[in-house]
Amino acid sequence: MSLLPLFIDVSGKPCLLVGGGRVAARKLKMLCEAEAEVAVIAPELCAEVQTLCDLHGLQVKARNFKDEDITGQQLVIAASNDTRLNNHIGALARQRNILVNVSNDFKQGDVVLPSIINRDPIQIAVSTGGASPVLARQLRSNLERSTPSAYGTLATIVEKYRGKAKQILKTDKTIRRFWEEVVQGPIAEMVFAGKIDAAEQALVKKLTDKNISQQISGEVYLVGAGPGDPDLLTFRALRLMQQADAVVYDRLVSDQIMELVRKDAEKIYAGKERSRHTLEQESINQLLVRLAKEGKRVLRLKGGDPFIFGRGGEEIETLMQQGVHFQVVPGVTAAAGCAAYSGIPLTHRDHAQACIFVTGHLRDGTVNLNWDMLAHANQTLVFYMGLHGLKIICQRLIEHGLPDSTPAALVTKGTTPEQRVLIGDLSTLPQLVETHHVQGPTLIIVGTVVTLHSKLHWFMTDREIEA
Ligand code: SAH
Repeated sequence: MSLLPLFIDVSGKPCLLVGGGRVAARKLKMLCEAEAEVAVIAPELCAEVQTLCDLHGLQVKARNFKDEDITGQQLVIAASNDTRLNNHIGALARQRNILVNVSNDFKQGDVVLPSIINRDPIQIAVSTGGASPVLARQLRSNLERSTPSAYGTLATIVEKYRGKAKQILKTDKTIRRFWEEVVQGPIAEMVFAGKIDAAEQALVKKLTDKNISQQISGEVYLVGAGPGDPDLLTFRALRLMQQADAVVYDRLVSDQIMELVRKDAEKIYAGKERSRHTLEQESINQLLVRLAKEGKRVLRLKGGDPFIFGRGGEEIETLMQQGVHFQVVPGVTAAAGCAAYSGIPLTHRDHAQACIFVTGHLRDGTVNLNWDMLAHANQTLVFYMGLHGLKIICQRLIEHGLPDSTPAALVTKGTTPEQRVLIGDLSTLPQLVETHHVQGPTLIIVGTVVTLHSKLHWFMTDREIEA
């Protein structure tokens, strides 16, 4: 059952609490914080309830509940230790359309009192719809930790200047951007650091700055999204993903990662499949410039790391020529992600003192590389985009001196739940790949470090295939 979250104003309104134990105390505290006019009915009160009643001067009826007690109440909370009584109160209140919370079983009533993270005037409420109070508490404590305690102060300052900002800035877009810059930038940091006066002064200065409208210019964030697992995103990547106005993304960016992008951002697919480039590189470069010049914060989201076989360099070169501000956020490159999740360390004192990242992309039906440099012992080779050239790659390495028994691995969709690892050697890997109809982004790892996989694999082991 899904509930409709509502925040109700009960200040100064009659609310009834039935019960005087620990559960009642917890609920009473919430009612008092919301400044409700509470009447407490219970034959006996625990010390905690008694203290709250004394503190807030509440009306206490030290007796059993009577049906007529609910008359005229805005909200009733049945929190006695008598389940039957609580359920009875629930039924009674529902008959009369009075909101009621039944503490032992919320389905007997119609409202749930959520766990609350209080940053007055901000309140974050967590409910699991009765499924798991432990989970709700855990989530609450995570939010407690990650929500700066001065958020409430920040909200109060924002509220104070909202009207003035509206007068000065006029258009909705400028107003939104202004406040986004305030709550995500140095002014918010001042508030979090306790420098409230300085923050307010800075805010006033920013607001009265004559050039404020021109100041709001676009920017491009060139961000590496990592190899697939969303947990491998950097904090900065996530923050920029959530504040971008437009997103230009690649095929390699997983759906799970796209879910984390701001919901109302404009999303543009830039494709890049082998031999079927949806947007040519030059058009992508120009698109980024155009969007940024429209004043948008543009997220250019790429698989892995933008500077490793990602053409990130070309994109920012254009931005630089056109005077567009940008920042680059590194990501976990496929080699690092696949190596970790397949238990194949890329360097190892006993196996490899160097590691080379190589493109295996075919040009004119072949792979043009410095094979003499690649065909060496004591180093690991990682081929990106090598699936279609796999046969040629293995052949060339053998021709240039690597034993055909050199271990080789193929990792597909690395770091995702669909990760697959094929283990063979330079002579067997091409056949193995054909037999198993490999699809999706694939990385080839060549070198004796591959033998460590049998000992060190730890992720999704059930899908591994060895030859
Ligand atoms: N900039 C990216 C690489 C882009 S080139 C990075 O740093 O990872 C595209 C190639 O990356 C694919 O052909 C494949 O070789 C590799 N790749 C990307 N994601 C991968 C994944 N999850 N598993 C295996 N290989 C991957």
